[in-house]
Amino acid sequence: MSRVLIIGAGGVGGVVAHKCAMNPDIFSFVCLASRSIDKCEKLQAQIKNKGYELAIDKVDADNIDETAALIAKYNPDVVINVALPYQDLTIMEACLKAGVHYVDTANYEHPDSAHFEYKLQWEKAQKFKDAGLTALLGSGFDPGVTNVFCAYAQKHYFDEIHYIDILDCNAGDHGYPFATNFNPEINLREVSSKGRYWEEGKWIETAPMEIMQVWDYPEVGPKDSYLLYHEELESLVQNIKGLKRIRFFMTFGQSYLTHMKCLENVGMLRIDEVEHNGQKIVPIQLLKTLLPDPSSLAGRTKGKTNIGCLVEGVKDGKLRKIYIYNVCDHEACYNEVSSQAVSYTTGVPAFIGGMMVAKGDWRRAGVWNMEQFDPDPFMAALNEHGLPWVVKEIN
Ligand code: NDP
Repeated sequence: MSRVLIIGAGGVGGVVAHKCAMNPDIFSFVCLASRSIDKCEKLQAQIKNKGYELAIDKVDADNIDETAALIAKYNPDVVINVALPYQDLTIMEACLKAGVHYVDTANYEHPDSAHFEYKLQWEKAQKFKDAGLTALLGSGFDPGVTNVFCAYAQKHYFDEIHYIDILDCNAGDHGYPFATNFNPEINLREVSSKGRYWEEGKWIETAPMEIMQVWDYPEVGPKDSYLLYHEELESLVQNIKGLKRIRFFMTFGQSYLTHMKCLENVGMLRIDEVEHNGQKIVPIQLLKTLLPDPSSLAGRTKGKTNIGCLVEGVKDGKLRKIYIYNVCDHEACYNEVSSQAVSYTTGVPAFIGGMMVAKGDWRRAGVWNMEQFDPDPFMAALNEHGLPWVVKEIN
């Protein structure tokens, strides 16, 4: 049995806290720490109502010394970072300082530039190796489960993989004309950026939302799916051998796209400071304040998500194509852990990643992406902890 410290008490942090607390045979001690203690208190009460115990604390994870002191206070085996991508580097450093394993769900981003890459985190590999510690990067759904799906396809279905399309659909309806399902600032920075995919050894850039295809998602139906750059492409290109092309698609409804375009056109998606009535404000941060809090969507969202990987390649000299996916129901997530499916599909893999590292199934000194470990125990844990998956042969 292990001890875990979760940092970040937002939509995803709430799911991780529920799942860790609900599995005392895996985590005998669970602490949730975040910047605002009131969010931790709310989750503590919610989890107590379900009959489980959760310790809480306050931390500014931008501060390495404060975070290392918090880690030392609770002496966890692993830290699960579900704060924002801005805190990845400081929490990694605090883990090194305190001598504890590290798990996160999103690559580091600098608050002043929407730039998605693993470079600064991969550069810490030697430090983690020397300390004998594991850092597991991107243990959400995408990145995360999608990387594990690719590793599973590689291990069990292909001699060589040539094409991967990652297909992410959220068909949930929350009834608002416009809202984002996770942190609006992080979400809008990602979807308003240029698209990018990898083909024959080169990155190809597209205008935002330039490429669209309709994909018929099982249990959801056909949906417009737009090509975006997504961070798991960077590591999968390096770790899946023989790859000729990899792309990422996400569904958006017309209302979402129209609102986003309008907000962009009037400057509300800007991430630089502007002067307003003698005060400096960052427009996208003001927008975050105005939009519904993603966790407040939980009780009102109906419908399903479907996220998966369409993988093509060769097995025993023959062409083969498979589709691995998970379907998750917003209302079922709410009934289980008081959250919507986007937080659930991220929080459950973060909990499983923490469990893999804590139990030693996935423990190797250094900094690693999900596809670099044996996918089998993770795939089994997905079935066990609420995210069952399907493999379909496509002829
Ligand atoms: P939220 O904005 O709902 O929650 C973020 C939490 O982090 C808040 O509790 C916030 O505190 C806390 N926080 C922010 N800054 C600090 C700080 N300096 N010190 C301590 N705590 C801090 O985000 P989500 O829960 O939606 O997302 C969490 C993470 O999950 C993000 O990194 C996101 O990118 C990632 N994600 C990954 C996905 C995947 O599939 N891989 C999908 C969706 C999300 P406060 O309340 O004070 O603001």
